[in-house]
Amino acid sequence: MASRFATHEHHEFLAAAHEALESPNLQLALSRLGETLAAGNRTAFERLPGSSLLRDKARAIKDETLAHLDGHIEQLERAIVARGGHVHFATDGSAAVAIVREIIRKAGAKRVVKSKSMVTEEIHLNQHLEESGVEVTETDFGEFIIQVAGERPSHLVGPALHKTAEEMAVCLNERFDAHLTKEPHVMAQFARGYLRRKFAEADVGITGGNFLIAETGTVVIVSNEGNARLTTSVPRIMVSLVGIEKVIPRLADLPVFLKVLARAATGQKMSIYTSLVTGPRRPGEADGPEEFHLVLLDNGRSRILGSPMRESLFCIRCGACLNICPVYRKIGGHAYGGTYSGPIGAVITPLFDGHRQNQHQPHASSLCGACQAACPVKIQIPELLIRNRAAQHDEHLTPRGEELVYRVWSRLMRSPFWYRLMTRTAARVLPWFARDGWLTRLPGPLAGWTACRDFPAPAKKSFRDQWREDCSCRVRGD
Ligand code: SF4
Repeated sequence: MASRFATHEHHEFLAAAHEALESPNLQLALSRLGETLAAGNRTAFERLPGSSLLRDKARAIKDETLAHLDGHIEQLERAIVARGGHVHFATDGSAAVAIVREIIRKAGAKRVVKSKSMVTEEIHLNQHLEESGVEVTETDFGEFIIQVAGERPSHLVGPALHKTAEEMAVCLNERFDAHLTKEPHVMAQFARGYLRRKFAEADVGITGGNFLIAETGTVVIVSNEGNARLTTSVPRIMVSLVGIEKVIPRLADLPVFLKVLARAATGQKMSIYTSLVTGPRRPGEADGPEEFHLVLLDNGRSRILGSPMRESLFCIRCGACLNICPVYRKIGGHAYGGTYSGPIGAVITPLFDGHRQNQHQPHASSLCGACQAACPVKIQIPELLIRNRAAQHDEHLTPRGEELVYRVWSRLMRSPFWYRLMTRTAARVLPWFARDGWLTRLPGPLAGWTACRDFPAPAKKSFRDQWREDCSCRVRGD
């Protein structure tokens, strides 16, 4: 497996971003984010008394868990094995794919149903299973749509969020030769009928996991559609593929995360379905898998754990930082080029897959801090983005011209003499190019500033000059 993520060069990012900006359908789909998911998050936390303390608590649990992650993973493994389940450790995507393939091969299985899982997207599991002749069906409605469309998710919790209802109907009609209208209940009814048959035929159900409870050996899967519950209970074999950072120590910690996850993701008090699966079905139980496997994926996470970027592992993949981000809300998820998009994607994609291939990611941000304010575990995303930019500099990935400009700028800013000279010169020269007090076109590398907006012309007198004059007037008693 050459690359865990589809990488994106800088020029590809810019081209994809421009294309996104020019797509009326995408802009329409994204424009709804502000009043739906982003507003839901804000209102839900405002209505919850002590919500800031709850978020602090969730953050503290994550922090404490990661400090002793090895011990918690061992406890998790013991608990699952004691319940008759199997635990596998995958260092990277190739290892995880090999493990899942082997489970399927041993079972003689040919059909797999899946519930939504970003980790399986991360390692391109569907593609690998299909190459080995296994039929894979996504059962989350959004995932089902993008599987039919041959696309990848554009959002952590709304994989088909980039599509309008009309586009979804066209996509289903073309694939199934159906005559569906764009009404959500019409498409949902069709998908329900189709997917029920797939559930009944499947030998293996593959899920991700929102949390893993070390104390009890439980995989927790949160969804709003009920498809995860069918994936875990109808097929004979269940496989959960989960990143190692999803472990939490105790069952008592779970309500903290369920409360913040639902509010942050969709503004709900609770998601509709919360499934807790603890090993295979035991004698006397009505449903559940005969065989249960947990595949714990590292894929670079333990390297991040020991680095200053450790905090990025607190992420519970709620998508709130995407919904509020002014960049994501204009260009959508696909332009970022990786499995994970938006602010948290810009943090973790270069960590997983290298800074060189993802130089645009940490710069696809205004550093306004809205992501951090919306994050249910208060991850300091702007700080992490700046660290990624610094890492690019350390790896000598910054263009030479840019490096030179900042070097000169830093010297000027540290010298009062040069700073004064520079601001006075700018105040004298730039107004020549201004029209009605605005600069509409800056030259050379500064052109980007004025490509989409005007730049205010500098005041004729600098603040320092005004201050000095004001002080001398007061001394003279004018
Ligand atoms: S960084 Fe925070 S807001 Fe963004 S997806 Fe992760 S938990 Fe949610």
